[in-house]
Amino acid sequence: MRDHELYTTILGLQAPWTVERVEVDLPGKAVHVWLGRTDDTPAPCPECQAACPIYDHREREWRHLDTCQLQTRLHARVPRVQCPTHGVVQSAVPWATPGSQFTLLFERLVIDWLQEAAVIAVARQLQLGWDAVWGIKRRAVARGLARRETLALRYVGVDEKAFQRRHDYVTVVSDLERGRVLYVADDRKRESLEAFWAVGLTAAQREALAGIAMDMWAPYVQATLAQVPDADAKIVFDKFHCAKHLNDGVDRVRRAEHRELRARGDTRLTGTKYRWLRNPEHFDPAVWRAFGPLRRSTLKVARAWALKESAASLWEYRYGGAARTFFRRWYHWATHSRLQPMIEKARMLKTHLPNILTYLKHRITNATAEGLNSKIQWIRYTARGFRNRENFKTAIYFHCSGLDLYPH
Ligand SMILES: [Zn+2]
Repeated sequence: MRDHELYTTILGLQAPWTVERVEVDLPGKAVHVWLGRTDDTPAPCPECQAACPIYDHREREWRHLDTCQLQTRLHARVPRVQCPTHGVVQSAVPWATPGSQFTLLFERLVIDWLQEAAVIAVARQLQLGWDAVWGIKRRAVARGLARRETLALRYVGVDEKAFQRRHDYVTVVSDLERGRVLYVADDRKRESLEAFWAVGLTAAQREALAGIAMDMWAPYVQATLAQVPDADAKIVFDKFHCAKHLNDGVDRVRRAEHRELRARGDTRLTGTKYRWLRNPEHFDPAVWRAFGPLRRSTLKVARAWALKESAASLWEYRYGGAARTFFRRWYHWATHSRLQPMIEKARMLKTHLPNILTYLKHRITNATAEGLNSKIQWIRYTARGFRNRENFKTAIYFHCSGLDLYPH
């Protein structure tokens, strides 16, 4: 088989395209393959696929899968066509998507690698520029989003994710049943979420939502009340966020008390921070025993801890009436504890109680999408400095949305 025929076969070329010339550049570690058209028959418009008369030609180059150890580059004079609808445009070629400097097969390879490794590693291994890799990632996401069908959604979660600097956020909406990210928006403002409800979903989808897990964050609540029918019964304040607030109260009590004790030379609380915050189910038994005297002590932090641990029962009730009775007692205990941080947290929970108790019906939390959270952590970890927020958003869609990313 001659080299022309070999490349015609492996590139799957069909008339009128053919291989005109192959050159091996050993010092440059590359193979250059020139493709040409055998005639000037009409070529397809990239927008409407209509066969249109040829206007002129432009020289183009694409990177293809390596041939053995040699980087393989395709070259062709691509016709520009005169489309009655779209004007003079570069015609579509069968081996690449419009505007890409890479063949379809090469883009597929990069997408496969991006699912396994960080952008910087993929760029290094495939000898690509950082921008080129991001370009492939962005096009893959755009393709996937354009192909996505309208889903019937029942349970969704709304969460904020920080990236880079601590106060830079994106809002992430996910499908809790399928464990997929549906939407990523800038910031964590009312508009961030409202756009998704209003534009990202159809009226039927909004109507069909059964439950929406979120933090007690006023902008998200306002956006949801404004756009989702019957939102009052659907919003579920995430129980892990509630637990985090209580933990924060315990920690404030501990810090203040630790300062007082230390001033008197009492170091009982030194190095105990994480014991007060850890879920008892996650304790090593020996550490749990060692923690006993402190837990049972009359210290303020021990009382705050007991309040926090006891509050967890709220989410175990099956019926709203019993849960409300429990909460009334707990609230009385908390607000008479003389522990200011715990009193504040108890008031906050009381204010939000109706949408905390919606949990009893829907049983959803943002941790339902636990796999997603750890993936987003991985994205942040491997990012080593996203140059911008758009890249962070692209990466979340790429890795967490279950999109069909490949060029066809
Ligand atoms: Zn056209």
